[in-house]
Amino acid sequence: MSDLRELYQEVILDHYKHPRNRGTLEQCSKSADGFNPLCGDRITVELEIDDGRIADIRFEGSGCAISMASASMMTEAVKGLTEKEAKQLFADFRRLVTGEAGVEEVDLGKLAVFAGVRDYPTRVKCATLTWHTLSNAIEGRVESARTEGE
Ligand code: ZN
Repeated sequence: MSDLRELYQEVILDHYKHPRNRGTLEQCSKSADGFNPLCGDRITVELEIDDGRIADIRFEGSGCAISMASASMMTEAVKGLTEKEAKQLFADFRRLVTGEAGVEEVDLGKLAVFAGVRDYPTRVKCATLTWHTLSNAIEGRVESARTEGE
Protein backbone atom coordinates (compact mmCIF):
# COMPACT_ATOMS: atom_id res chain seq x y z
CA MET A 1 0.00 0.00 0.00
CA SER A 2 2.81 2.41 0.78
CA ASP A 3 4.24 1.71 -2.68
CA LEU A 4 0.97 2.76 -4.27
CA ARG A 5 0.88 5.87 -2.14
CA GLU A 6 4.40 6.81 -3.18
CA LEU A 7 3.65 6.20 -6.84
CA TYR A 8 0.47 8.20 -6.46
CA GLN A 9 2.33 11.20 -5.12
CA GLU A 10 5.14 10.92 -7.65
CA VAL A 11 2.88 10.68 -10.71
CA ILE A 12 0.51 13.40 -9.53
CA LEU A 13 3.30 15.81 -8.68
CA ASP A 14 4.96 15.18 -12.03
CA HIS A 15 1.77 16.06 -13.93
CA TYR A 16 1.10 19.02 -11.66
CA LYS A 17 4.55 20.48 -12.28
CA HIS A 18 4.72 19.51 -15.95
CA PRO A 19 1.15 19.49 -17.25
CA ARG A 20 0.57 17.78 -20.62
CA ASN A 21 -1.70 19.30 -23.26
CA ARG A 22 -2.06 22.56 -21.39
CA GLY A 23 -3.15 25.56 -23.46
CA THR A 24 -5.75 26.24 -26.11
CA LEU A 25 -6.51 24.76 -29.52
CA GLU A 26 -6.41 26.71 -32.76
CA GLN A 27 -9.32 24.67 -34.02
CA CYS A 28 -11.77 23.81 -31.31
CA SER A 29 -14.99 21.88 -31.98
CA LYS A 30 -16.27 21.72 -28.42
CA SER A 31 -15.39 23.25 -25.08
CA ALA A 32 -16.71 23.54 -21.54
CA ASP A 33 -15.79 25.16 -18.24
CA GLY A 34 -15.81 23.51 -14.86
CA PHE A 35 -15.67 24.80 -11.32
CA ASN A 36 -15.29 23.01 -8.00
CA PRO A 37 -16.53 25.48 -5.36
CA LEU A 38 -15.30 23.34 -2.47
CA CYS A 39 -11.67 23.71 -3.46
CA GLY A 40 -11.73 26.59 -5.95
CA ASP A 41 -10.51 24.50 -8.90
CA ARG A 42 -11.31 25.91 -12.33
CA ILE A 43 -10.88 24.08 -15.62
CA THR A 44 -11.59 24.73 -19.27
CA VAL A 45 -11.44 21.80 -21.66
CA GLU A 46 -11.24 22.22 -25.44
CA LEU A 47 -11.77 19.40 -27.91
CA GLU A 48 -11.13 18.93 -31.58
CA ILE A 49 -13.53 16.24 -32.70
CA ASP A 50 -12.88 14.47 -35.98
CA ASP A 51 -15.40 11.87 -37.11
CA GLY A 52 -16.60 11.21 -33.55
CA ARG A 53 -13.06 10.85 -32.25
CA ILE A 54 -11.11 13.17 -29.94
CA ALA A 55 -8.39 14.19 -32.38
CA ASP A 56 -6.90 16.74 -30.01
CA ILE A 57 -7.52 18.15 -26.55
CA ARG A 58 -6.21 20.99 -24.38
CA PHE A 59 -7.00 22.23 -20.93
CA GLU A 60 -6.49 25.45 -19.03
CA GLY A 61 -7.11 26.02 -15.39
CA SER A 62 -5.97 26.72 -11.90
CA GLY A 63 -6.38 24.78 -8.72
CA CYS A 64 -4.90 22.16 -6.47
CA ALA A 65 -2.35 19.55 -7.50
CA ILE A 66 -4.94 16.81 -7.79
CA SER A 67 -7.30 18.74 -10.06
CA MET A 68 -4.49 19.89 -12.35
CA ALA A 69 -2.77 16.50 -12.45
CA SER A 70 -6.11 14.83 -13.15
CA ALA A 71 -6.73 17.22 -16.06
CA SER A 72 -3.26 16.60 -17.47
CA MET A 73 -3.60 12.82 -17.21
CA MET A 74 -7.12 12.85 -18.59
CA THR A 75 -6.00 14.64 -21.75
CA GLU A 76 -3.38 11.94 -22.34
CA ALA A 77 -5.87 9.17 -21.63
CA VAL A 78 -8.68 10.32 -23.93
CA LYS A 79 -6.76 11.65 -26.93
CA GLY A 80 -7.59 9.37 -29.87
CA LEU A 81 -10.63 7.81 -28.19
CA THR A 82 -14.14 8.09 -29.56
CA GLU A 83 -16.49 10.29 -27.55
CA LYS A 84 -18.30 7.17 -26.39
CA GLU A 85 -15.06 5.52 -25.23
CA ALA A 86 -14.09 8.69 -23.35
CA LYS A 87 -17.41 8.70 -21.53
CA GLN A 88 -16.99 5.04 -20.62
CA LEU A 89 -13.53 5.81 -19.27
CA PHE A 90 -15.04 8.57 -17.12
CA ALA A 91 -17.62 6.11 -15.78
CA ASP A 92 -14.85 3.66 -14.84
CA PHE A 93 -12.72 6.45 -13.36
CA ARG A 94 -15.61 7.63 -11.25
CA ARG A 95 -16.24 4.11 -9.95
CA LEU A 96 -12.57 3.85 -9.03
CA VAL A 97 -12.19 7.16 -7.18
CA THR A 98 -15.46 6.79 -5.29
CA GLY A 99 -14.39 3.33 -4.14
CA GLU A 100 -17.22 1.60 -5.99
CA ALA A 101 -14.72 -0.49 -7.92
CA GLY A 102 -11.31 -1.82 -6.95
CA VAL A 103 -8.13 -1.03 -8.90
CA GLU A 104 -8.16 -4.55 -10.34
CA GLU A 105 -11.78 -4.28 -11.50
CA VAL A 106 -11.31 -1.40 -13.92
CA ASP A 107 -8.64 -1.07 -16.58
CA LEU A 108 -7.48 2.51 -16.22
CA GLY A 109 -3.73 2.27 -16.72
CA LYS A 110 -1.89 5.16 -15.10
CA LEU A 111 -5.17 6.76 -14.00
CA ALA A 112 -5.30 4.08 -11.31
CA VAL A 113 -3.04 6.28 -9.17
CA PHE A 114 -6.14 8.34 -8.37
CA ALA A 115 -7.55 5.42 -6.41
CA GLY A 116 -5.73 7.09 -3.50
CA VAL A 117 -8.32 9.88 -3.30
CA ARG A 118 -11.16 7.55 -2.31
CA ASP A 119 -10.26 8.03 1.34
CA TYR A 120 -10.70 11.80 1.00
CA PRO A 121 -14.24 12.64 -0.18
CA THR A 122 -13.50 16.30 -0.90
CA ARG A 123 -10.54 15.23 -3.06
CA VAL A 124 -12.81 13.04 -5.18
CA LYS A 125 -14.39 16.23 -6.53
CA CYS A 126 -10.95 17.62 -7.37
CA ALA A 127 -10.12 14.46 -9.32
CA THR A 128 -13.44 14.25 -11.20
CA LEU A 129 -13.91 17.94 -12.07
CA THR A 130 -11.95 17.66 -15.31
CA TRP A 131 -13.97 14.57 -16.33
CA HIS A 132 -17.29 16.28 -15.66
CA THR A 133 -16.05 19.18 -17.76
CA LEU A 134 -14.98 16.83 -20.57
CA SER A 135 -18.36 15.14 -20.43
CA ASN A 136 -20.16 18.49 -20.72
CA ALA A 137 -17.96 19.48 -23.65
CA ILE A 138 -18.79 16.21 -25.42
CA GLU A 139 -22.50 16.66 -24.74
CA GLY A 140 -22.30 20.26 -25.88
CA ARG A 141 -23.76 21.56 -22.62
CA VAL A 142 -23.09 25.23 -22.17
CA GLU A 143 -23.57 25.64 -18.42
CA SER A 144 -20.56 25.20 -16.17
CA ALA A 145 -19.81 21.77 -14.80
CA ARG A 146 -20.14 21.67 -11.06
CA THR A 147 -19.15 18.92 -8.76
CA GLU A 148 -21.91 19.16 -6.17
CA GLY A 149 -23.77 15.95 -5.65
CA GLU A 150 -20.86 13.82 -6.78
ZN1 ZN B 1 -8.94 20.75 -5.67
